[in-house]
Order: sequence, then structure tokens, then C-alpha cells
Amino acid sequence: EARGIKDKGVLAAIGKVERHRFVSSNVAHLAYEDTPLPIGEGQTISQPYIVALMTELLQLKGSERVLEIGTGSGYQAAILAELTKEVYTVEIREPLARQAEALLKELGYKNIQVKCGDGYLGWPEFAPFDAIIVTCAPEDIPQSLIEQLAEGGRLVIPVGTHWQELKLLQKKEGRLLTANLIPVRFVPMLRNKMSVTDDEQEGH
Ligand code: SAH
Repeated sequence: EARGIKDKGVLAAIGKVERHRFVSSNVAHLAYEDTPLPIGEGQTISQPYIVALMTELLQLKGSERVLEIGTGSGYQAAILAELTKEVYTVEIREPLARQAEALLKELGYKNIQVKCGDGYLGWPEFAPFDAIIVTCAPEDIPQSLIEQLAEGGRLVIPVGTHWQELKLLQKKEGRLLTANLIPVRFVPMLRNKMSVTDDEQEGH
């Protein structure tokens, strides 16, 4: 709130979800500081301000179907699940996907589906999505995510290599409106061989 988050629903969700459950136990005492923290497998959870900002940008009203790329600990997915009806989240590292799935189940979330897979491909079976949030950074916006965004939908994504620009894309009458927001730093979005092949095929 002090940093300018205004959406009451987002602030309530941040207040409700216990962040210490999602971070590595040796840093649990830092869970309520506004700082990124390790979650295992060399990955990090964003600082709460960035989670809140990205969530606020999605403007969730409660009935949306949302896709997250980069499940990590499952914290962002839990925040989303407090604010909307259906959350689909994709994580490329299997141990993280399994751990997040187990924790979210233990916490009682019934509206989150976790899949281990490559986020470059989105999750076509459940598309289109009213909102898409990407919490790892690709060099370019994956075409599949643009395709899986519903008309009127919003996509929040960090784009770039070392430092990234946080972007908000909106699909309006089939066209994309893009806004560049702030510089951010996320772990890179990995590409596996299969998805590279898929993208190359799409390009021809
Ligand atoms: N949103 C998470 C933090 C994400 S950290 C949370 O709330 O805890 C970024 C995550 O993206 C890492 O777990 C990393 O393994 C994952 N990732 C990287 N490349 C990916 C890809 N191509 N598809 C899906 N997930 C990916």
C-alpha cells in the first residue's frame, strides 16, 4: 500500500496468503520483508511489491481464467486464486512443479491447476485466457501466449535479457496495445529443444 498499490482485493490477498509457507525454510524469517527470496532449485520469488503490482495490472474481477508461466513456489498462483475463479500455472522444473502442487493442495486451493511443462507453449487445452502473467523473462514475447490471450485480455510479462522491461499488453479488437512499465529483474525463461522446434515450425 505504501508503494502505491490501490486495488483493495490485491492488498487483501497479499495480507492473507502466508508467504513464509512458500520460501525456503532458512529464510522464512524474512518472508514479510519487501524483498525477493530463494525458493529452491536456484530460483527466486519476487518481492511482494512486484507480485502485487503485476497482479493489480491484470485487473481481476473474479470470474477470469488466468494463466501463469513460472509457478516456482506457487505463491503468485495462490494470490491469483484468491482473486479469480480459475488459475492454470506452468512450471518447467519438475521438482518445483510437484512441490508447489502439493503445497497449494495442502493449503486448500481447489481452483489452481499446476502443470510441468514449457511455458513457451502456454496451455492450449484451456485457452483462451482472460489474463496471462509471466514470472520468468523471455527475450521476446512468446507468440503462443499472444494467441492464447482472449479478446479484451491482459498479458503482463518481463521482456529482455539481463534487465527486463515489465510490459502490459492488451488485446483489443484483435490488435495488441503495449505499454512499457518499469525495469525489473527476473530469472530467464528457459527454452527446451522441443519448444524451439515448435516455434521454428510456427515461423514457416
Ligand atoms: N511465480 C513464482 C516465482 C517464479 S521464479 C512464485 O510465486 O514463486 C521463475 C520460475 O519460472 C522458476 O521456477 C523457473 O523454473 C520457471 N521457468 C523458467 N523457464 C520456464 C519455462 N520456459 N516455462 C515454465 N516455467 C519456467
